[in-house]
Amino acid sequence: MDRNFEDADPQWLVVEDGFAAARANAYETIFATGNGYLGTRGSLEEGHEGALPGTYLRGVFDHHDSRVIELVKAPDWVSLAVVVDGTRLDVTSASVVHHRRILDLRQGTLLRETVFEDSEGRRTRIETVRFASAADEHLCCLQARITPENHAASIRVHSGVDATGYNLDRRPIYTEPPPDDPQMKWHKWAKSKHLEEVAHAESADGIYLETRTIDTGITIGYAARTTVSAPVEFEVEQRHKVVAQVFQAPVAAGETLTVEKLVTIHTSRDLAADSVRRSCLQELRHHAAAGFDACRDRHRAAWAAKWADSDVTIDGDADATRAVRFNLYQLLIAATESDPRVNIGANSLTGERYRGHAFWDTEVFMLPFFIYTQPETARALLRYRYHTLDGARRNAHDGGFRGARYAWESADTGVETTPQWTVDGAHRIWMGEEEIHVTSAVAFGLMAYVAATGDQALLTDYGAEILFETSRFWADRLEPMPNGRYALSRVVGPDEFHEHVDNSAYTNYLVRWHLRQAAQVYADLAVSHPRELADLSGRIGLQADEVQEWLDRADRIRLPIQTDDGVIEQFDGYFGLESLPVTLDANDMPQYPPGYHHHNLAATKLLKQADVVMLTYVLPDEFPEPVKRANYEYYEPLTLHKSSLSPAIHSIMGIEVGDPARAVQYFRRAAFVDLADNQGNTEEGIHIASAGATWQMMVCGFGGFRVRHGRMTFKPWLPAGWNAVTFRLKWHATGVLVCVRPTSATFLLSGPDGSHETILVNDHQVELSAGREVVVDLADARAGRANRSRSRVEEAVRRVNG
Ligand code: BGC
Ligand code: BGC
Repeated sequence: MDRNFEDADPQWLVVEDGFAAARANAYETIFATGNGYLGTRGSLEEGHEGALPGTYLRGVFDHHDSRVIELVKAPDWVSLAVVVDGTRLDVTSASVVHHRRILDLRQGTLLRETVFEDSEGRRTRIETVRFASAADEHLCCLQARITPENHAASIRVHSGVDATGYNLDRRPIYTEPPPDDPQMKWHKWAKSKHLEEVAHAESADGIYLETRTIDTGITIGYAARTTVSAPVEFEVEQRHKVVAQVFQAPVAAGETLTVEKLVTIHTSRDLAADSVRRSCLQELRHHAAAGFDACRDRHRAAWAAKWADSDVTIDGDADATRAVRFNLYQLLIAATESDPRVNIGANSLTGERYRGHAFWDTEVFMLPFFIYTQPETARALLRYRYHTLDGARRNAHDGGFRGARYAWESADTGVETTPQWTVDGAHRIWMGEEEIHVTSAVAFGLMAYVAATGDQALLTDYGAEILFETSRFWADRLEPMPNGRYALSRVVGPDEFHEHVDNSAYTNYLVRWHLRQAAQVYADLAVSHPRELADLSGRIGLQADEVQEWLDRADRIRLPIQTDDGVIEQFDGYFGLESLPVTLDANDMPQYPPGYHHHNLAATKLLKQADVVMLTYVLPDEFPEPVKRANYEYYEPLTLHKSSLSPAIHSIMGIEVGDPARAVQYFRRAAFVDLADNQGNTEEGIHIASAGATWQMMVCGFGGFRVRHGRMTFKPWLPAGWNAVTFRLKWHATGVLVCVRPTSATFLLSGPDGSHETILVNDHQVELSAGREVVVDLADARAGRANRSRSRVEEAVRRVNG
């Protein structure tokens, strides 16, 4: 296989050995390549029955005949078919003698090696390398090496772009179990069409295909150029929505034919529609002149820079390191800093589940990774919430409220896009009306970003307006109760098994926090940026007494009852519901009790995912440790983790409250959610929120990292068998490299000369200054915590390089 990878470190590689039709769709998700501009599923280049290929371009949504606006399945750029002496080499027409694919996480590249054998015993090896360039986001590259191993062949290759794919729309209601034949799996789904062909053409440089989304009118151009290592004559094959370059070459036994395909992609989201073609062709010419190897070098260098900011390793657990890196890889291909009008869908750009819509997943689960490793990307993601503020205003207005309410599911404009029915049409979905806590998630993301970066401009330019308009919504949405308190009725908290509930603890605590944050920002800006505040207030008609009213309502919001042990009732009446025993399935995951499913658990206490436990995680300062522990112990046994967002949070809180055994089990469930497919639906797209939460497990769980009162604080803990966990954080103008070991933690601050930071480790102050490594003895720090002796901790801090 690829020579660059023979000696590569397995902790950077995800490997598929052998082709199994039943796992093919899951691997399409796992092997997605992308660059934040686009994502391409890891489908085999030649296609096969039951395949679910897809390329998705950020921000390209359409709502033609689909039920809600969705991320469009864009034309396929990887399409490459090899025909040897009349036999098409694919998994149905030839037998697969050998098949191996490797996702090289370090280089963001998918490698493949397959040996096909036809009915005459002729063996042909196909090796491919492909990537979506991290250096040039409009560029995709594919190289194929074709070797007839035991025969001389006449090899025909079709290398094209194909816009015939449709999005999956509705799943049929099966009266009997759905067919388990992997080839038939998607056949019965209704499909939706979003693309019409505008033009296809042949050019001196290759081929060009232009399509347009039917409803939103976005022009999409793909230019492609294929070159071959042997002298050949190209023909161009043109069908409706398909253009391909085709050639035929004689190849001697054991010789290799190398085919290189470069594709450039542009849309009218970034350019005038009539410039799309010119930009595609110009860039294609430029990259073609540089050549495949040069494109690959630039791509590699860009990945090296990404990893330098974000790698996380576990010394002592190679498998876990690989899984963690896989999650980080997925985050790194999900977004970039270059477009503040897009967000990350719940399956990123790797599949159609959740239709490319963004949820609270972004701010609460993924944003921390970006804030601390790629802050410019975090900024772009937050600016998306500003870009969609008018949509949020419309959501509030449509519900009869003032201010702005963010959509539970958000696409291009921020207008609510949650479908009203499940994909089989059988159940009404209420989240668009009721899962309103997402609005506080936006405030949560903003405040976390500003605390970590000190980027006040984000607040004055965009954030304050978001905070104020959303607070307005809350103040209006809160319902006065006869006892002078304020309620929020008919909502859904994070636990979606319970709909139409009153006073969800998670929601109400977050709303209280949100209103207080907004009032604090108002007060701070009045001092630090009075002119900007006056302008903004004038623009949105905000007066100080309205802000006073937010504080008043925050103080009087109804908070659900707490037992003597500190257990917070998830919502009004929850404690009166029925308890059911929970058992685990073969995958070590909790299962629905017999006869129960997602839609009939409302009368029971079982929860879909972390809810009150989530609350104690996102607002760490509001609950003392015994309360966190009491809630974890009460709710954890009742939680089915039917959302992939749940296990990681239980890992982090398990560590915090002293349940290390379960914390490690939850770590594995979350870190391997897609690699082990333990939710059973990896085929439909990556669980990108869980990927973000995996970063949080490493840093906030094992590293025990929290920001408290504007400072970085750490309470590290490692499971038995792990020698060290290493991660990096960006913080204002500095960076910190952290290495946690079983009994010590090392911190190295980088940044401009003279930079220094005071951090807390196990509640003790530690001074960091740029360029000096500081080792903190955790055992001593813990002992120090017990007797509160400052001097002992100071002793424990040794300056190694200083
Ligand atoms: C999710 C909801 C979502 C709905 C429609 C459900 O599976 O749990 O959060 O709104 O799908 O996309
Ligand atoms: C979860 C939500 C989540 C959504 C998208 C649902 O199943 O319940 O919390 O936002 O999926 O990931």
